[in-house]
Amino acid sequence: MRLFLNILTLTVILILHTAAPAEDIYKQKRQNMVAKDIKGRGIGDKKVLETMEKIPRHLYVDEYIRDRAYADYPLPIGEGQTISQPYVVALMTETLRLKQSDKVLEIGTGSGYQAAVLAEIVKDVYTIEIRKGLADKAEKRFKELGYKNIKVKYADGYFGWKEYAPFDAIIITASANHIPPPLIKQLKQDGRLIIPLGSTVYYQTLTLATKRKGEIDLEQITSVAFVPMVGEAGKGN
Ligand code: SAH
Repeated sequence: MRLFLNILTLTVILILHTAAPAEDIYKQKRQNMVAKDIKGRGIGDKKVLETMEKIPRHLYVDEYIRDRAYADYPLPIGEGQTISQPYVVALMTETLRLKQSDKVLEIGTGSGYQAAVLAEIVKDVYTIEIRKGLADKAEKRFKELGYKNIKVKYADGYFGWKEYAPFDAIIITASANHIPPPLIKQLKQDGRLIIPLGSTVYYQTLTLATKRKGEIDLEQITSVAFVPMVGEAGKGN
């Protein structure tokens, strides 16, 4: 009887130890990431901070690298592509000055993490991915995680998504040496577009474009290193 009780106690302790804490460890890592790498580096937008503290980023990467999901660098997501560094996700999101009622277009779905961050902040998110494997995987992820305000399209994002245009904001998470003209066309008056602009793969200039009475104001934000946009934008490179 005593042996049985001992085994029972041990089993209960073991279960308590293995089941709950994994989530707690990620939560702790997430809080540290936001405090140190996001807030600590100057991001002040409350909604962005709250959102990044909430979203389980480890579920947007493969299991073998989950323990690195909250580190401040990009990680591989397959097909030679990467999930962006958390600080850059925060910076791009904050720079767009989003409102709850906004409709946002993303080019370069990748893992789906940036789209999820947007979906917590705005009403509707449309995201385009040129690699079928990644588009399908992200779509499945959104479904499993319960996102109803994200639509995914497998296509070349250079041409935007006419059916749902115009957009309040557009975010391009792959680099190009020019802003695709169809995207400027699909931006609302006073709409904001953010893109890593540059012709080398090593670094680009994160640039904010604001549409004002038909004119485009450009503001350089900082240096970044994104994977290049392929398809139409990559032609002639
Ligand atoms: N936003 C992503 C990271 C993007 S990595 C995330 O949160 O994980 C860049 C992505 O852009 C890659 O998945 C790549 O396949 C995609 N891409 C490259 N060129 C593209 C194009 N022309 N149209 C749409 N997606 C493109």
